[in-house]
Amino acid sequence: MTFRSFLLIPFLLLSTLHLAAQDTVTVRRVVDGTSFTTGDGRTVKLLGLALPASRAVTGEECRQHLADLLASSSAVVLVRDTSVQDRGGVQLRYVEAVGESINRRMLLDGYAAASSAPRHAQGDEFARAERSARTDKLGAWSSERASSVQCSGITQKGTRCLRMTTNLSGRCWQHEK
Ligand SMILES: [Zn+2]
Repeated sequence: MTFRSFLLIPFLLLSTLHLAAQDTVTVRRVVDGTSFTTGDGRTVKLLGLALPASRAVTGEECRQHLADLLASSSAVVLVRDTSVQDRGGVQLRYVEAVGESINRRMLLDGYAAASSAPRHAQGDEFARAERSARTDKLGAWSSERASSVQCSGITQKGTRCLRMTTNLSGRCWQHEK
């Protein structure tokens, strides 16, 4: 190996990493509110999102909302968080369409909950977006649409909890864990 080609190696590695950090794909099918398949056969899960545990929206409504957001552009950009590993063939990605973060938009519209597992660079930003949707009572956090039920938890006195809750678990904030 010549000295010159030796110098080229780190440069080539760097440019490969750069290319791998971002790519453009077409959307084939939206699977649920946090994932879709691509035209080239990959399964992508939107990084930092979870399905909201709320009675106010159904899983199908979350899926439809993601489908609507992705339908606005013929190609979407997948951006890798270099500190996050893909899981079992599923690519965890930030997804951008028409220059907008779709992950963040799902949170702002109240059709997803922010998830910090796995930890990722935009965790704080995503948590803020979810709080904003909760404050504005959008989507999953809309109290008008939510059908409340009485908490199924038992109090320390041994009686049924009287709080009403819209949590999917059927338990209020105090008895959810
Ligand atoms: Zn309770």
